Amino acid sequence: MTTEHVALVTGGMGGIGEAIARALHDNGCTVLVTHSPHNDHVDAWLESQATQGYRFGAYGVDVADFSSCQRLAEQVAQDDHTVDILVNNAGITRDGRFLKMEREDWESVMHTNLDSMFNVTKQFCAGMVERGWGRIVNIGSINGTKGQFGQCNYAAAKAGIHGFTESLALELARHGVTVNTVSPGYIDTHMLAAVPRDVLESKVIPQIPVGRLGHPEEIAAFVALICSDAAAFMTGSDVAINGGQHMY
Ligand code: NDP
Repeated sequence: MTTEHVALVTGGMGGIGEAIARALHDNGCTVLVTHSPHNDHVDAWLESQATQGYRFGAYGVDVADFSSCQRLAEQVAQDDHTVDILVNNAGITRDGRFLKMEREDWESVMHTNLDSMFNVTKQFCAGMVERGWGRIVNIGSINGTKGQFGQCNYAAAKAGIHGFTESLALELARHGVTVNTVSPGYIDTHMLAAVPRDVLESKVIPQIPVGRLGHPEEIAAFVALICSDAAAFMTGSDVAINGGQHMY
């Protein structure tokens, strides 16, 4: 399966985003990745990817900030790229019981995980509609459908993502643009560093029927599939990839 599309993956320099960027590159896409403005490993990361045969365009952006996303779109256009595939992957956690949760923890998670859907998608979806082809994949979470102790902010944002997906899918379906959510379960990335290892081993992994954490590549392979021409009839879906932990 090869395509010549241009894909943009937010938060593409690590974890699930990096695996998605590589899978899309493997499928023949030109891949642009974004990193947050304070990321100081960009050159080393690009160099390390290049030595493995992966060449990416890289752009700094704060997905929580609309103006920053407008500047991203301007830079991408200046570089003569027209984005056909958008993977809204960037996200953060700021966990804590609601009784103790600070407003800042609520707002930063909402801005980064949910407002980013508007901020980034707004820049690129009109072009997809004009060209009559596009793929938008929004990365949700198992906790957006089942809830999670200590994650009122994150679960609310991730649940909101799928409402966005369904509505945008309806609006864009007749224009050749599909919009889907992929909702991972527990995947072994930097994000899980917030969960103590003993809690992962004693509480989380025993709840996963396959008996282990997922690998970023196990999310990426599916994202790459639904970004292909073969997936033209799939839109508005929320696909759970969670080792059987939560079935719906
Ligand atoms: P990581 O922490 O490894 O990656 C998150 C990425 O988001 C980083 O690349 C980071 O960029 C980027 N990012 C964070 N804030 C901003 C911002 N304001 N502007 C731009 N980029 C930003 O986590 P994962 O790879 O695990 O997570 C990827 C997605 O998958 C997230 O949406 C997460 O919620 C979701 N997910 C993860 C699960 C897991 O178990 N790991 C489970 C379910 C969902 P940089 O490195 O440049 O700072």
